[in-house]
Amino acid sequence: MSAASFCTCTDFKCPLHPTNHDKGCDPCISKNLRKDEIPTCFLIK
Ligand code: SF4
Repeated sequence: MSAASFCTCTDFKCPLHPTNHDKGCDPCISKNLRKDEIPTCFLIK
């Protein structure tokens, strides 16, 4: 599996997107927990 083949989010400009770093889902999930939001992958297959 490549660095981000698991992620269905298409916002590749987001600095938290897994294609833009090597920390996997951690930054995205941290941001969503902080803001009481749901990760995009919960909404897009
Ligand atoms: S948690 Fe965030 S980074 Fe991880 S797969 Fe879902 S949308 Fe992508």
